[in-house]
Amino acid sequence: MQRDLLDALRCPVPHEESWLVAMVHQAVGLTLREATLACPVCSAEYPIVDGVAHFAAGEVPTHHAWDNDALVWRLAAQLGVGESTQPVVLVGAYGASSALLATKVAAPHLLVNTAGAPAAPGASRMVVADRLPFGVSTLAAVAVDAGHATEVMLASAARALRPGGRLVAPVHTIIPAGMRELARDDTEWVAETTTRASGLIELRRRAPHEVM
Ligand SMILES: [Zn+2]
Repeated sequence: MQRDLLDALRCPVPHEESWLVAMVHQAVGLTLREATLACPVCSAEYPIVDGVAHFAAGEVPTHHAWDNDALVWRLAAQLGVGESTQPVVLVGAYGASSALLATKVAAPHLLVNTAGAPAAPGASRMVVADRLPFGVSTLAAVAVDAGHATEVMLASAARALRPGGRLVAPVHTIIPAGMRELARDDTEWVAETTTRASGLIELRRRAPHEVM
């Protein structure tokens, strides 16, 4: 996991929004290889093992890398992130597009519950349970596959998106509150954030704590 993602991470337990404290055991450049992320509010701990941040236990299904250039161009257009420096979150099967998507989209990738397929250079990986562990307005765009597109997951994505940030999800799901539909076809809808979610982030200017 990339060190600069620490700014965006929050404890996924439903309580007051809180940064996570990182105890770094092994880092290579900007990549955290072995670390523990701890929540100062509820004392939950989340390990980073072999570079992957684990917010949940359990196996992640293996995905085949995308090799269809047209499909990846389509996803790049749906995400609409351009040269954003905020991360794009690719959940489940979308994460398998990472290597090819990186040739079209400069924004950093964060792969959630994706295994097997190669990731873009500098991408981060994490394993989550039912929601994304990010603060308000920390993400540029999110794509959620059919295997993960629950109401709770989509709401957590909508909350974490910056104003104008886009969410791509299966067409059978409901667009979360605070988002406006931009496009829809047989498989997916694309919506953008119209209102800023409420959160405590604006009251909390201190930097995340980090212990080497
Ligand atoms: Zn917590």
